[in-house]
Amino acid sequence: MTLRDDTLLTHLGRAPAHHAGTVNTPVYRSSTFIWPDTSTLKNHLRDADDPHYRGHIYGRNGNPTTTAFEDAVAQLEGGFRGLIMPSGLAAIVGAVLAVARAGDHLLVTDNCYWHARQVFDQILPRYGIQATYFAPMLGEDIAGLIQPNTRLVYAEAPGSSTFEVQDIPALARVAHAHGALLMLDNTWATPLFFKAFEHGVDISIHAATKYLVGHSDAMLGVIVTSEALYAGVRETVRQLGYIASADDAYLGLRGLRTLGVRLRQHERSALAVARWLQQRPEVAEVLHPALPGTVGHETFKRDFLGSTGLFGVVLEPFPESSVNRFLESLQLFAMGASWGGFESLIRTQQRHPSAQIAPGVLLRLHVGLEAVEDLIADLQQGLQHLTVTPPARNLP
Ligand SMILES: *Cc1c(COP(=O)(O)O)cnc(C)c1O
Repeated sequence: MTLRDDTLLTHLGRAPAHHAGTVNTPVYRSSTFIWPDTSTLKNHLRDADDPHYRGHIYGRNGNPTTTAFEDAVAQLEGGFRGLIMPSGLAAIVGAVLAVARAGDHLLVTDNCYWHARQVFDQILPRYGIQATYFAPMLGEDIAGLIQPNTRLVYAEAPGSSTFEVQDIPALARVAHAHGALLMLDNTWATPLFFKAFEHGVDISIHAATKYLVGHSDAMLGVIVTSEALYAGVRETVRQLGYIASADDAYLGLRGLRTLGVRLRQHERSALAVARWLQQRPEVAEVLHPALPGTVGHETFKRDFLGSTGLFGVVLEPFPESSVNRFLESLQLFAMGASWGGFESLIRTQQRHPSAQIAPGVLLRLHVGLEAVEDLIADLQQGLQHLTVTPPARNLP
């Protein structure tokens, strides 16, 4: 029987028969596992070198809670297996270090997560790994940028600041034709709304801090890989010492149970808020992958199973002081980093160098689970603070 995602979300990562009948896999707070006899000790030490060995040896290799989370995410996304990591950024860094070596070149989407970009620019060059950036919508034309030493093409779809939806199958075709791998930051869509491995991705990472945990109360990451890459990636990230706590893995598993209902509510409300904002004179552009006119919308319709609660808004030109008054007057949209929790957030956002969007202030909204009418009313009262009449737009 092929189970649908909502059924998987309620069943993955649970094994009551192994845990005294408890519905949820418990928190195994463990560094040390005690071996009953010397032959177990000897077998464990031998098996520790086998990445497919699922027994528990030492906390840094994982425990029943972290393994349950890894398996659940990987199955949902259609990858082989997962590797839990202490944050989304750690998942990015760990996965890249696992596949790249000195002398390699990385071809990175220009709209990638800002702190990943800092790693590509500042840390990896110290170890002889060079990154160059490509405009997110290049698609198959990245072929012209591939170098003989290009090991990895790195994508994020949609980009979490400017929301271009990349053509992942096209990037995969070109990468694979040149012997490179395709890695994707799939945080925005989650394993529920983008099946990375069906579309040619070799390594997917998630900032589980966002929708998977879903409650703004833990830092967590996960790497999911193809079968071919799993053993090597696992070896590197565990040798580097990366692991996450069982408590945070539990929060990840707990978050998965409601991921479907939460995301559908985020999706509905974000679309309603985005459409409302599109009608407002203060707004120059709404950057939402599920709305026609947004860069990559056709690709979104072809490849994605749904949209989530995060999107961009470019304001008409207003003085900074009135934009600040707008942000500070909001009662329900709090200013804060991150997203993917139950609560609504708003912040100003940087553009990447090749962004093709209107010139005003770029805002990023995360539409939470509050009543959407209240969220719209909050924005409506806040927009009154954008007082200066914007210059007339050149309408055709
Ligand atoms: C937040 C985020 C990350 C990093 O995750 P952390 O858990 O904060 O380290 C990576 N990619 C995207 C798209 C993000 O939004």
